[in-house]
Amino acid sequence: MNPIRTYARWLHTRFPAGGVERLPACDGEGRTNVPGLYVAGDLRGVPLLKFAADTGARVVRAIAAEPLFRTPRPDDGTVDVAIVGAGVSGMSAALEAGRLGLSFEVFESNEPFSTIVNFPKAKPIFTYPRDMTPAGGLTVSADVKEPLVAELRAQTTGEHEVPVRSARVESVRRSGGVFELALEGGGVARARRVVCALGQSGNFRRLGVPGEDLDKVYNRLHDPADFRGRRVLVVGGGDSALETAVALAGAGAEVALSYRKEAFARPKPENVEAVERLAAERRVRLLMGTTVREIRAAEVDVESGGGVETLANDVVFTMIGREAPLDFFRRSGVAIRGEWTRGRAAAFAAFVVFCAFLYNWKSGGALGNLFYARHWWPVSIQDTFASVLSNPNSLASVVVTSASTPSFWYTLAYSLIVVVFGVRRIRRRKTPYVTAQTVVLMAIQVLPLFILPEILLPWLGKNALLPRGLLDALFPAVGYGNGREYWRAYGLVLAWPLNVYNVFTGHPLGWWLVIAFVQTFVLIPAAVYVWGKGAYCGWVCSCGALAETLGDTHRTKMWHGPRANRFNMFGQAVLAVALVMLVWRVVGWVLGDDSALSRAFPLVMDKYKWVVDVGLAGVVGYGFYFWYSGRVWCRFMCPLAALMHVYARFSRFRIFADKKKCISCNVCTTVCHQGIDVMSFANKGLPMNDPECVRCSACVQSCPTGVLSFGRANNAGSVLREDRLASSPVRMRETR
Ligand SMILES: Cc1cc2nc3c(=O)[nH]c(=O)nc-3n(C[C@H](O)[C@H](O)[C@H](O)COP(=O)(O)OP(=O)(O)OC[C@H]3O[C@@H](n4cnc5c(N)ncnc54)[C@H](O)[C@@H]3O)c2cc1C
Ligand code: SF4
Ligand code: SF4
Repeated sequence: MNPIRTYARWLHTRFPAGGVERLPACDGEGRTNVPGLYVAGDLRGVPLLKFAADTGARVVRAIAAEPLFRTPRPDDGTVDVAIVGAGVSGMSAALEAGRLGLSFEVFESNEPFSTIVNFPKAKPIFTYPRDMTPAGGLTVSADVKEPLVAELRAQTTGEHEVPVRSARVESVRRSGGVFELALEGGGVARARRVVCALGQSGNFRRLGVPGEDLDKVYNRLHDPADFRGRRVLVVGGGDSALETAVALAGAGAEVALSYRKEAFARPKPENVEAVERLAAERRVRLLMGTTVREIRAAEVDVESGGGVETLANDVVFTMIGREAPLDFFRRSGVAIRGEWTRGRAAAFAAFVVFCAFLYNWKSGGALGNLFYARHWWPVSIQDTFASVLSNPNSLASVVVTSASTPSFWYTLAYSLIVVVFGVRRIRRRKTPYVTAQTVVLMAIQVLPLFILPEILLPWLGKNALLPRGLLDALFPAVGYGNGREYWRAYGLVLAWPLNVYNVFTGHPLGWWLVIAFVQTFVLIPAAVYVWGKGAYCGWVCSCGALAETLGDTHRTKMWHGPRANRFNMFGQAVLAVALVMLVWRVVGWVLGDDSALSRAFPLVMDKYKWVVDVGLAGVVGYGFYFWYSGRVWCRFMCPLAALMHVYARFSRFRIFADKKKCISCNVCTTVCHQGIDVMSFANKGLPMNDPECVRCSACVQSCPTGVLSFGRANNAGSVLREDRLASSPVRMRETR
């Protein structure tokens, strides 16, 4: 086999690479890109009744907190809140709006709670997470369909009547601060805010095979008893397919279940156990690894590796999932996760151009020189503060001198962004893990990566408060700025080959070589072995600091899937270049300054700086930030990360999963800004060992049922120790 392919498989492509579902893009509170238009319920990505109730109530609380709703509004027939959809989330929103004194109108195209009313007769209800009490007034406690419907109706009729207008909303448009809801048939309703609680019940996925439109093909089961004695094929491998098969077999139908994969990965364990029990009793025939090819009036063709089998058949249930009503959102101007529009593409291109300019300026390129020449930038700061500079050893003089370089301003702005967005992340995520991690990232960014090289070291050096030998060894003297290369102190945190400038020098800087060697080949591998690659990428590195703070709300934008996983190998190419340059540099030193290798090295170094540091890390890494998440550089291009991926293959770090609790909602995969398909590990109960993980904790923190935990594996791969620092709010609630 091709050795590069074998290596790629060992390092990256062996790991699962499932994609993410397209949903309306919104923040943690349901706000979309259209101000005043919110999303609640299933469309937020967690298909659970309790979450639907919770998000509905919380969205209305966020609306009620707006200043507009604390003052009297004109009585012009415009309601405060229009709620589209009378499912669990819509009704929870309506009850909360009533409680908070907001006027509201609920629009429903079918009947209230239609999704639940359409569940199969006597369907068992799983009220995950058991310890969760949703916000608002709607309770979900019954464990069978019919009592659940009764429970929900009792809370929204009679004394607590929630009026529901029978109408289908086609689209929502904002005009002059008020929303106009276009209703099917031509009517228009007006509201100051809109809650979209449409659920996902409308659009069933299709098999795309001949015969799919025959009358005998259904995608919903109402009463299993209707199919007693009939020959039924159920298609699908999720919970609804398994529940349908179980219900039909229980009612006396002759059931076959066709699923395209060889094993069930996504359904709840209870459902898998039930279907396997029926299969053992020969009451359900399992057709694993098969696909439906054609449906005819009395037969179905099912294909497997062994060829095509024709089954005698009366009824087919295609239970292969549903899709969000994305057209509704497109018509309403709401951005869809991962979808491009012309405006989005133009903004992306403009931002990349801005980053090209920024990093050229910061790195002393031609554009930066133009700035200096025209005195558009604080280069004149030296003239302005000339009196301060008369005492070069003063702190003020040191600061003014440092402030004459772009790197000072760039690093100051970078540090401020990390701190401001770091505080916001801590407030948003509220776990001890996130708090500790963010505080450490902010502290490292501000102290050793800004104050130390830009202010403290120059001031100590100028006032002879540091040993001369140490200064000479680490910060060679130069005839400009603060007199020495204090910027080399960045190398105390940013290790080779992320920072190559202390190693790829004209003459060897012995102490920096020792420091770089110990960092890259001793400390980092040891840390990765124990805590995973995230020990550096998630807790130390400045690129990681920005990605976890400024990038915190952009996690879901990362590219997922098998092609993206192959692209992970790009970093190995950058690492290979860095390794070749290391050998080149060392051999050049050995051969002497006059050797061809030494003479050519500065040119190669210049290319590396502009292509890798400025082009990839700067322009691409930051230019792609708000469109592909903050980890593009870290995942695909960083040579240090590429080296750590190799170390991480031997690491003990794992994300463990309590499989029983996993509802296969895919939230963990969706929030992973390293593109890891966390769900494919979790729903099989496998410890997650993808080397890309940066320990951000987003998957652990966002999992609605508290499935995941950080920990260390023993030789057998099972839990040696779980992290003590709590990172899952669900588990924190459970152990309270
Ligand atoms: C087969 C099945 C089994 C499930 N089992 C469980 C379980 O055991 N436990 C659990 O916790 N969860 C379960 N769920 C998930 C649960 O049903 C959902 O999480 C919940 O119903 C979502 O509520 P919602 O309000 O977001 O959406 P929905 O309940 O789907 O409500 C949306 C409403 O909006 C209406 N609507 C749609 N478009 C429009 C429009 N344009 N204009 C006006 N109205 C519109 C629809 O008619 C619908 O009534 C299951 C779901 C399915 C499909
Ligand atoms: S902690 Fe979870 S979300 Fe973060 S990088 Fe690792 S797998 Fe992805
Ligand atoms: S582990 Fe992932 S897929 Fe499973 S419940 Fe948690 S977030 Fe959903």
